[in-house]
Formats: sequence, structure tokens, C-alpha cells
Amino acid sequence: MAEVIIEKLTKSYDGSVKVLDGVDLRINQGELVFLLGPSGCGKSTLLRILAGLVAPDSGTISFDGKNIISLPPEKRRAAMVFQNYALWPHLNVFENVAFGLRMEKCSRQEIGKKVMEALEQVRMSSFAKGSVTQLSGGQQQRVALARALAVEPALLLLDEPLSNLDANLRDTMRREIKRICTERKLTALYVTHDRREALSMADRAGVMHKGKLSQIGTPDEIYNHPSDSFTARFLGDVNRLPCGGGIRPERLRISETQGKFRARLLERSFFGDSCEWLFEISSGEKVLVRELGAPERSAGKEYFLDYDEAFLIPAPESDDEK
Ligand code: ADP
Ligand code: MG
Repeated sequence: MAEVIIEKLTKSYDGSVKVLDGVDLRINQGELVFLLGPSGCGKSTLLRILAGLVAPDSGTISFDGKNIISLPPEKRRAAMVFQNYALWPHLNVFENVAFGLRMEKCSRQEIGKKVMEALEQVRMSSFAKGSVTQLSGGQQQRVALARALAVEPALLLLDEPLSNLDANLRDTMRREIKRICTERKLTALYVTHDRREALSMADRAGVMHKGKLSQIGTPDEIYNHPSDSFTARFLGDVNRLPCGGGIRPERLRISETQGKFRARLLERSFFGDSCEWLFEISSGEKVLVRELGAPERSAGKEYFLDYDEAFLIPAPESDDEK
């Protein structure tokens, strides 16, 4: 496992639009770092550059202090897990996982041991002799993960690995991947557009925007104290307040008697375990409040809304920033 330092990485495919525009990122040894961002923001490009599949225009990447930018993919020990699994249909489960080790010319005995260890780690050892084409999506992704683990990568790269799986399976696989990263003390970079995935699994995470990474922090830091409004809004809803700042819907309290400003209740959306209240303030802005439970409240009535100043975050400056 390596400590990874990325400095001033830039990449443009067509010579004009910078997909990556000076990305700086440090991944500590044994750390699981997440990069979040909308589709097309350059997440896969960054992973491909780290794996050595795409060359950057400029910038440096080091693993444990050693510059790896001119090394070919097979010398980097960066293993990638793809969204679409990318298994070889003509090879069985064992041979898919063994592939990288055969490339490294490991002995037969060593290959057998490492492949079975990796398959055990992802709870797929009983499928070793089976065909990958007979497996479910979740099982195929476990095999793809085992293939990456088998080579004992210095850096594990995960490119939206759970995006093709249904919601229940995604929850299970999140816990599995987190467990494996912790058990094996993997240094890993995981990219996704799913904020829940990032917030629930990451040691640290950041949001990519216009080729840059403005803030990398713990899930609590970036969610509760985002440094810019893009990060704030990518991670969850933000209300613009009369004072100019922003606040998350779950940080507002509704009261009949006191609070920082008044708002008229427009409507309620009930979700069983929680509900959302839509208010209107005198400027005409709408404010969303999220609560556990769903107490009785009257639409059309004026209430007070209150919040703790510690949870004010950067509000969107104007609508065209969205
Ligand atoms: P993400 O993984 O965040 O969705 P990508 O890194 O795949 O984003 O793509 C970032 C941008 O670069 C997109 O606008 C995409 O169209 C463009 N792009 C990606 N790969 C290539 C390529 N091989 N040639 C030209 N443009 C590309
Ligand atoms: Mg991508």
C-alpha cells in the first residue's frame, strides 16, 4: 500500500476544454478517499491517468515518494474496478482473478494461493471453477474486485463500481467494500456520482467541479462545513436564507412562538419516517424544512424558523450558478 500524491494534474482531450485543471490530491497510506462529481466532470479521466491508461498534459503523481508518471500500467501496481465489471467471458472465475498474476509471471503455487485468498475475501471461493457469464451482476462485481485485490495493488481505483447494481445490493456491497478496504488497509480512490455512497464510506471525500477539487475533508466536514456552494449543493439541499447564508433543511427548526425569521407554510410531503415542509418567506423565496415524524401543522399559517449559526453554509450566489 502506498501514499499517493497528485500535484497540478491537467488534462484536455481536444486542446481547449480542461477536463482536469490543476488537480491536487493526497491519499494517505491505508486511506479510502472518494471523489464525487456529476457525469462528465472528469472522474474516470483522473482514474485512467492514475492507472497509466491515459497520459496527463502536465502534473506529477508519486507513489511512496516515487514519481510514477512515466511508468507503464503494469509497473504501477494500480488496480482498477470498473462500473461494467470488464471480466473476460471466455475465462472462468479463477482465471479472471489470476489474470494479473499470470502477467507478473508468478509461480503456479503462488497464483493458486493468492487467487483463492482474494476470492475468499469477496466470499466467492465456491464459484472458482464456474463461468463468469452465469453470475449475477453483484457476483461479477465481487469477482472484478477479487481480480484487483489479487495483485496486492499499491493503489486500488474504483470507478462507480456499484452503479449497475440495484439499491439493496448496493447497500450490501458498500459495506463489503468498506470492510475489505479496512481489513487489508488498502489505499484506495473511489469515484462516484452518488453522495450517499461517498458520505457513508469515505475516510475523506471531495467534489470535482470544472476540473478542480476545491475541498477534501471528512464526510462531516464537507457536508456540514462545505467551503463553496457547489460542494454544498452537490452533497444535499441548501436553503437560501434572508441573512444571505444557506442552511440544510434538517437544520431548521419550526416554532409557533420564536425564531430568527417568519415563514408561511405552503405544503407538506410525507415520507413515513420523515416529512418535508415547504415554506415561503416574505421575499418570496421558498424554504424547505426536513423533520423526523410528521406533527400536525396548518397550511397557510405563519410560523417561526430558527437555526444554529454554526450550521450556516455558503449559499448559491445566483440562479445561473446552478
Ligand atoms: P466522468 O467519469 O466524470 O463522467 P470522464 O472523465 O469520463 O467523466 O469525461 C470527462 C470529459 O472528457 C467528458 O466531457 C468526456 O466527454 C470527455 N472525454 C472522456 N474521454 C474522452 C476521450 N477519450 N476523448 C475525448 N473526450 C473524452
Ligand atoms: Mg466515469
